[in-house]
Order: sequence, then C-alpha cells, then structure tokens
Amino acid sequence: MSTTRFQALQTIENRLESLPLDLGESHGETIASYFGENVFHEEAMKKYLPENAYLMVKAATQSGQKLSREVADTVAAGMKEWAQDKGCTHFAHWFQPLTGKTAEKHDSFFTMTHDGRVIEEFTGSALVQQEPDGSSFPSGGLRSTFEARGYTVWDPSSPAFIIEVGDGKTLCIPTIFVTYGGEAQDYKLPLLRSQALLDKAAVPVCQLFDANVTKVTATLGWEQEYFVVDEALFNARPDLVMTGRTLLGRPASKHQQLEDHYFGSIPERVYHFMRDLETESHKLGIPVRTRHNEVAPAQYEVAPIFEEINVAVDHNQLLMDVMERVARRHKLRVLFHEKPFAGVNGSGKHNNWSMGTNTGVNLLSPGKEPSKNLRFLTFFVNTIMAVYKYADVLRASIAHAGNDHRLGANEAPPAIISVFIGEAMFKLLGQIANGKKTDDAAVKRAIDLISKLPNLELDNTDRNRTSPFAFTGNKFEIRAVGSSQNCAGPMAVMNAMMGLQLMEFKRDVDKLTAKGTDKEEAILMVLKNYIRKSKPILFEGNNYSDEWKEEAASRGLNNFATTPEALDVLAQPLGIDLFGKSGVMNATELDAFYNVQLHAYCTKLDIEAKSLEELVVSQVLPAVLRYQTELANNISALRSIDMVQSARLQVDLLKRIVADVEAINAGLKAMQTAYDNAHNAGDIRAEADIFCHQVRPQMEAIRAAVDDLEAVVDDQYWPLVKYRELLFVR
Ligand code: ADP
Ligand code: MG
Repeated sequence: MSTTRFQALQTIENRLESLPLDLGESHGETIASYFGENVFHEEAMKKYLPENAYLMVKAATQSGQKLSREVADTVAAGMKEWAQDKGCTHFAHWFQPLTGKTAEKHDSFFTMTHDGRVIEEFTGSALVQQEPDGSSFPSGGLRSTFEARGYTVWDPSSPAFIIEVGDGKTLCIPTIFVTYGGEAQDYKLPLLRSQALLDKAAVPVCQLFDANVTKVTATLGWEQEYFVVDEALFNARPDLVMTGRTLLGRPASKHQQLEDHYFGSIPERVYHFMRDLETESHKLGIPVRTRHNEVAPAQYEVAPIFEEINVAVDHNQLLMDVMERVARRHKLRVLFHEKPFAGVNGSGKHNNWSMGTNTGVNLLSPGKEPSKNLRFLTFFVNTIMAVYKYADVLRASIAHAGNDHRLGANEAPPAIISVFIGEAMFKLLGQIANGKKTDDAAVKRAIDLISKLPNLELDNTDRNRTSPFAFTGNKFEIRAVGSSQNCAGPMAVMNAMMGLQLMEFKRDVDKLTAKGTDKEEAILMVLKNYIRKSKPILFEGNNYSDEWKEEAASRGLNNFATTPEALDVLAQPLGIDLFGKSGVMNATELDAFYNVQLHAYCTKLDIEAKSLEELVVSQVLPAVLRYQTELANNISALRSIDMVQSARLQVDLLKRIVADVEAINAGLKAMQTAYDNAHNAGDIRAEADIFCHQVRPQMEAIRAAVDDLEAVVDDQYWPLVKYRELLFVR
C-alpha cells in the first residue's frame, strides 16, 4: 500500500473531527471599529506626530516632496512610539523585488551605544534607507556581485503597517528597491513613475473641461482567485510543494461539468478561513469586501473595494502573504498558481482600472450631466487607442510560465489582446466615426448620444467574459493577469501607455485650436480620427473561438501564445519606446527586467522538469512495476493451470501498462536531451525557447502516459494523492 497518500487521507479524517473551526481572533465588533488598526494612517499620524511633521508627510504623500533629515527623524520617532504602543519589537523595510513575491529584512529597535548602553531606537535614516544584501535578489545584470549593494528607500505614499505572526509584531515600512546608482530593481518604482507620468499627462487633458482638476490618480480594484487544499494532501504531493501545480494527475470523473461550485455555498472549513483572513486584512486596512466560490471545485475569489493604484498593489501583495499564513493556521494551503490542476479552470486576477481626479470624478464613468460626456468620451477613446498601439507590451506584462497554461486554454482570455466595449458604446463610436462633420452640431449630437445611453454599468458587466480587456460601465477590466502575479507589472504598462497617449492627444488638440478650431470641435475631430485608427483592436464576439484567431491575424493583431515570444517586445522598438519615453524604465533597467523575466521562466521550467523526473522515477514507476509484476504473475499462474484463455483482461491491462512505461522511458530520455540542449544553449533567449518547445512537450508526453496509468494501476498502490481527493475531500 502507498503509505504517504493513505496517511495523508487518514490525517484529514482525524483532523475533521478534532480541528476547531473558528481559529481566528473574533473581534465581535463592527468591521469599522477595527479597520486599519494596524496601519499608521491619518489618525495615528495626527496623534503621534507634531503638526508640522504630519503636514510635511501629507505633502510628501500627495506631491512627492522630499522630507528633510530632521522631519524624517521626527516621523521615525513617532512611528516607533506608535508601533511600540502596539507591541512591536522590530521594524522591517518591506519591498517587492522582481521575484514577484515580497521581501522584508527585520531589525530590532533594540541596539547598543558605543559605550555599551542598551537603547531602543529608530532613526530617520533607518526609516528612509536600508541596505539589504542585494545579491540574493534578481537584478538582471544591473549589479555585479562585487558591488552587490541594493538599497530600499521609504515610499511615504503607502502607509506603514504592523505584521503580526503569533505574538511577534513587526513594523513594516513600504519601500522601493534600487541599485547604488538608483536604478529600479523592483515592481514598485516603475509603478510609481508610471503613476506620476499619468498624472502629468492627464491633468492638462482634464483642464480642457474643468480648470479645478489638479491631480489624477489611477485606481485599481483587483479580484484575486485561488485554490484551497488540505495541508496534509498538499504535503503528500511533492509537485505542489516544489512547483505550486500538479505536474501529474488524471482529471477526476467529476470536475466542474455540473457547474455546481460557482457561487455555491462555501464549505465550512474554507468559510472559517475566509472570515479569519478578512479580520486580518481589515486590521491591515485592506478593504476586502467580496468572497465567493469560483468555477472550479476548491476554487475561490476575494476582492476589495478599489483604491489608489500603488496602495491597491501593496494591499494585494500583502493579502497574498496574509492568506498563506492564515491558511496554515487552518491546516489549509492556498494555491496562487495560474493552473494548479489540469482539466479544471485556472486562476486569474482581474485588474479593474480607471482614473480619478482630486475633484472626485471617475474619468471612465459616463456622467448624468451631458456637459461632462465629452470628457468621458475623451478618456474612453484614448484608452482604446493606447491599447491599440501598445497591446504587445501589455501582453508581455502578463507573460510568465504559469500564465502560459491559462491564456488561450478556452477558459481564460486568449493571448490575443483585444478590447470589448459593449454594443451601445460600439454603435456610438461607429456613429461618431462615420459622421461627416465635426462641427458644433456634431459635438452636440455626440454628447447627446452618450446621455441617452442605457446604464452601461448594468448593461456591460459580465456581458462578455471571454475578452481580455473589457469596459464594464465605469472602468476597464484587464482579465488576463495571472493569479500569482504582482499587479504592478501590467498596471505600470497601463499607466505608461495611457500617459503617452494623453500627451499625444493634447498635442493633437492644441495643433487644431492653434489654427483657430473651436476647442470642442477639435476634441471631436481628434477622437474621430482615433476611433477610425484603433478599430482593429475592438472585438465584441467570442474570444475563445478559432474564427477569432483567424480574424485577429487578418487584422494584424499578434497572438503570442508563449512567454518567450511574448517577452520579445521588451527588446524591440515598441517596448523600448514605451518604457523609455514614459520614463518608467530606462534602457538599462528594461534590459535587466527582460533578462530577469527570461531567467525566471527558464528556472521555473527547470524546476518543473527535475521535479517531474524525480516524481516519476522514484514514486510512480515503482508502484507501476509492482502492479505489473502482479499481473504478470497472475497470467503465468493461469497459464500453469492451462487457463491462459481466461486471462484476456489481465493481458490487455499488462499491454497497456507496458506501452505506457515505454512511453515514459522515451519521454524521460528525450526530456534529458532537450534539457541538456537548454543548458548548452549559451544564450538565455535560446534557452527559453528550448524549454518552451522541446522540454515542455516531453513533460506533457510523460504526463499523458502517467495519467493513463493512474486509471489502471491498483488504487492501493498509487502513491500520489488523486485529483478527486485534492479537490473534493475537505
Ligand atoms: P464584478 O461584477 O466584476 O464583481 P464590481 O463592479 O463589483 O464587478 O467590481 C469589481 C472590482 O472593481 C471591485 O474591486 C471594485 O471595487 C472595482 N472598481 C469599481 N469601480 C472602480 C474604479 N473606478 N476603478 C477601479 N476599480 C473599480
Ligand atoms: Mg470582475
């Protein structure tokens, strides 16, 4: 009997009887009474900082002003007092290196003076800058090992918070991570730069309509999908432990075909996990609001109320950390991988993106006031134009090994980027584009048409779930982002391309008004031109269909199905142009970023290939061979008593097993060769290509044979926890 698998199943059996379900701290009060209690927010700042320091920090947050050394010292002292009142002993710079995860290095407040006195201290310089050992983080060649220094630098625009692990409490300072020379080595600095660019570009455009607008921020509401499995079962699957996904496993006969999981009632253990998670998140000021089952069995979603983009990104990264920690408390594991199980849906992270002004306006919301509708149309059409121009860069920003299993797999948006806007807006753009004139009357007509639109929010939400980029009434929803991914990557691209586009728009309008064209007419003329140009990116049909692939090709839209292909644009003029002109990444940073992404891809596939080989050789094959011997013995026993005629079933089974074992053997050998080729490729792009087109197909061939064996080998021998157990035992 396979001991690991059955022990794991036994563990759950015992656990279900003994595990107290309600493990979370029950606050009992309303959420509002403890929301943000672990965040150094406005109120805490007012209480712990002198007024002038508080005002300086606010100014730094809003306009990016630098803080003087004295002010930093004062803020650090106030922060330390607040944190110590809450029981913190340590502080950490918290940052988002290109690994995609978060990183933190803890230091205690406790220190010793040179004359040996013990004191507790947190200075302004410790708040502002730290030097973690940078050499362990991917830099894509930005740093050579002999000058490994990397610096984390305080980002005052995202509030400090306290992480609680058991009794341990640590004050965490959100930071950016840069080289000695100030080059970005993380996801945050490019995002902050993109936000600054968007603000700079969008304000003058807003001022065409309203002089009171002085600030524009991008807003983000993410929807995080994930799977939950029992800890014992997770630990009994080395592939889940090593790679976050199952490399083997025959889809269970029941998966999601009954469509009974989506929005179904939440299993009790998971429900308790979610409540505990929500309490923790709310204390950290993460405004999570929605929870529900997703399409696949054991799949769920959590979503917050949207926030300013940089805070929203921090909150998503923080939430993923908290989820892993809280899940362990409940003897569960969360899987963020884009495709942990074959045969059922994978997970994504919809990014709902819009822009808001200091005057409280959502720039992608068609207002009730007709006079505001030309502004809506301006931001709406410019977004489409931006995607039209830079679709390939957006595609690159969501490219990674995990997402390759999902994009284009008839369950997630395809790898072809297109924009869905809904019937009403589609018609309206058509009418504008086909209108002969752009005079005063034409402007009135366009504005009038928008006011007569049905409620787009009700009308467009959920209309087309197959589109990678959909207008949902008052925001765009970018659906192809991977569930494990840092949102900052695609969001920096969104902001950057929108910023550049808005600058071009302003120039185009200015050119016309300089020649004496009326402002509103000029705006309409420019928009009309954009609508005509960007038409190929609009698609209202079924993005999963094969016809769309053909049509997209005829429209000149690219379909980069794999990560190495999708990343190429980062080394081509379009990518270099977008990042360079927007200032989001200079050529050196972009080159480093591109290299890090390629390396990450190769490393992931390398780990997967090695894990698969070990799993197959050391676990699957021994079980298979035992059963094969039993069958052979049985057949020869029957033969010895002249009953071999009655062993037809056994013979068929044996033949099937032998064929599968041969296929595995051939696959392993071919994989080894491919793998050696990859390592000898000499160039990272060539290596990625070999992993993608030579190693991966062998992994799939091996898997097909193993998954077939799973259906025939004695269940008692099968060493790996089966899909039906992973997905349905809770
Ligand atoms: P769904 O039907 O996809 O669940 P919701 O309207 O509930 O859509 O919104 C999904 C996400 O979009 C939520 O996180 C929500 O806060 C966010 N959202 C709503 N308005 C905006 C906006 N103006 N900017 C960014 N995100 C937004
Ligand atoms: Mg949604």
